[in-house]
Amino acid sequence: MNLFENENYKIEYFVSGFLSNNSYLISSKKSEHATIIDVPENPRDLLSKIQRNKMDKSLNQEKIKVIITHGHYDHIEGLDLFLDRIGKINITIGLKDSRYIANNENLFPIRKDDSIINGDITVKSLITPGHTEGSICLLFEPDDDSKFLFTGDTLFPGGPGKTSSSIDFENIYNSINNKIYTLPGETKILPGHGKFTDIRQSKREFKNFNLKSHIFGDVTWE
Ligand SMILES: [Zn+2]
Repeated sequence: MNLFENENYKIEYFVSGFLSNNSYLISSKKSEHATIIDVPENPRDLLSKIQRNKMDKSLNQEKIKVIITHGHYDHIEGLDLFLDRIGKINITIGLKDSRYIANNENLFPIRKDDSIINGDITVKSLITPGHTEGSICLLFEPDDDSKFLFTGDTLFPGGPGKTSSSIDFENIYNSINNKIYTLPGETKILPGHGKFTDIRQSKREFKNFNLKSHIFGDVTWE
């Protein structure tokens, strides 16, 4: 489904897998580069939308990159099938989650906030631990007026992703507060499952939550 389009770029999203995962495709209209965010089970719709060379898969390495928001199985389940169709392409993941796909020679673990450049598509990574140790969020700004943050399972409408200890919760809380809520209010939040929101709305929900004592597990801001 189409999420955004201007003269240079297009963002599409796909829902698949047992846990209804979102995956995202950013494509450049001019250069035909493509950056993919998360590859859940059964990525056939996603594959059908990617401009690629089917005769010589080695040429795809130049133009196609995958970024994984975090290493949980439901976000990487389709990788084997995907790589089988596309060929050996670069996969970026947060360093501390790289063990989830350790057997891949084209793995690029990142350890700090950085720019992930694929031709004329630049996505900025934010290191946002909490849901997992190596969780990252990804910021894409297709033009001056449009900002999209792919949050994986770090932030959803209504609250943060699941955490399994009070330390993890403190980490996700700090990640959201220090890295995400410092972005402009109109930034769209595109999570790894379910519906979208924006920073302005999320901050409103967070304000109510912040007055309460802290917990962990399946937390909502309400
Ligand atoms: Zn997860």
